[in-house]
Amino acid sequence: MIQRAADTACHAHGHVEAEHCDVPKRVTVLGATGSIGTSTLDLIGRHEHAVEVIAVTAHSSVEKLAQCALDCRAELAVIGDPALYGQLKDALSGSNIKPAAGNDALIEAAQMPVDCTIAAIVGAAGLKPTVAAARCGGRLGLANKECLVSAGNVFMEEVARAGCELIPVDSEHSAAFQILQEADSDSIENITLTASGGPFRTWPLERIQAATCDEALKHPNWSMGAKITVDSATMMNKGLELIEALHLFPVETDQLCMLVHPQSIVHCLVSFIDGSVLAQLAEPDMRTPIAVALSWPRRMAAPTKKLDLAKISQLTFESADEERFPAIRLAREAMERGGTAPAVLNAANEVAVAAFLEGRIKVPDIAALVGETLDSADKRGLVAGASCLETILECDANARLLAKEVLAKGNLVA
Ligand code: NDP
Ligand code: MG
Repeated sequence: MIQRAADTACHAHGHVEAEHCDVPKRVTVLGATGSIGTSTLDLIGRHEHAVEVIAVTAHSSVEKLAQCALDCRAELAVIGDPALYGQLKDALSGSNIKPAAGNDALIEAAQMPVDCTIAAIVGAAGLKPTVAAARCGGRLGLANKECLVSAGNVFMEEVARAGCELIPVDSEHSAAFQILQEADSDSIENITLTASGGPFRTWPLERIQAATCDEALKHPNWSMGAKITVDSATMMNKGLELIEALHLFPVETDQLCMLVHPQSIVHCLVSFIDGSVLAQLAEPDMRTPIAVALSWPRRMAAPTKKLDLAKISQLTFESADEERFPAIRLAREAMERGGTAPAVLNAANEVAVAAFLEGRIKVPDIAALVGETLDSADKRGLVAGASCLETILECDANARLLAKEVLAKGNLVA
């Protein structure tokens, strides 16, 4: 096995007995109320004889958190917003589930002894809890791609130091992870991540400029949380995924490619030096990569629709258009620059997407805001080496302030 991820056995305080079970026995879900969290709990619910849910967390969806904690009979439910503690406590009264609230409690949830943590908080807000889980060793199923984008090398050093077994949940990276099992790094020519192209794939620039929030949130193939759906519309998502892949797999930046594939059936292609190209195919349903993260190296049943290629009949591929989707170029430049540049890119993008969802800016302003924040951060010396988690967190906070300044000034040049 050659990938940088998951090159250690499931151990530390893990409880998996490989001969007897296909899935880890004890699982924590960070971000349990979101799209990935819900898919994870759905999957676990279908294997409830084998899996115990230990802790579930959310930010502010207190009713939903309480309900999912009750449904999966978790031991601990943590709401990030401390003001919601009373509501959570009331909703869980009469059960054996312990309620808790606040950032420290999120860290405590991440540190509960488990076989596997599914890290599905959205954004750099997930960094601290996810690192806390990684530091405990055991298995980490990573959906929270912003962790790797922001903290990259620092995050991977934490993972290596703890002997944590990292398995990507992002569908393209799960695909690459599966394909690369027996490969040695010298044999890889390149890795191609596919992209659906999002709702604006065929739209001319003028139409994208006038796109509404509802239109951006209408993803053609995947049902996901709002932030990643907007990232897919701008194609920043694929840019973030290039950076994610750089840290997960033993390749250089020039070995990372992307290809638009509107059907979202082929998730990744790996080209080898002998001319072979291996791909992973599946219907677009995150329960497949989540199942891989939970049960690898074995396979657990997932309710994903069976792939019927005769019915699908055509798989098509096209190049990504960086004119209409400038976020791709910005992400690639930040990836090549390294250091804290991807952390600035990510923070600015989070501010921009939030502003877009609030109706304050238009689609092209998202990339414009990210580009201007990166320029401004560079001038102020914010783009530098990334030595430790504290440096990254500080850079993330400063980049957010900067992005908000740029946003307040207006006059974004798309
Ligand atoms: P959602 O927005 O649906 O869910 C996010 C989860 O994180 C919710 O449980 C939310 O709680 C919680 N959360 C939000 N903000 C905070 C915070 N500040 N502190 C603690 N918890 C917080 O996101 P998705 O499930 O779509 O995505 C999760 C991650 O997985 C993202 O990084 C995304 O890029 C990645 N991913 C998602 C895919 C998908 O299909 N959805 C595919 C591939 C990757 P609350 O409900 O209370 O807000
Ligand atoms: Mg993806």
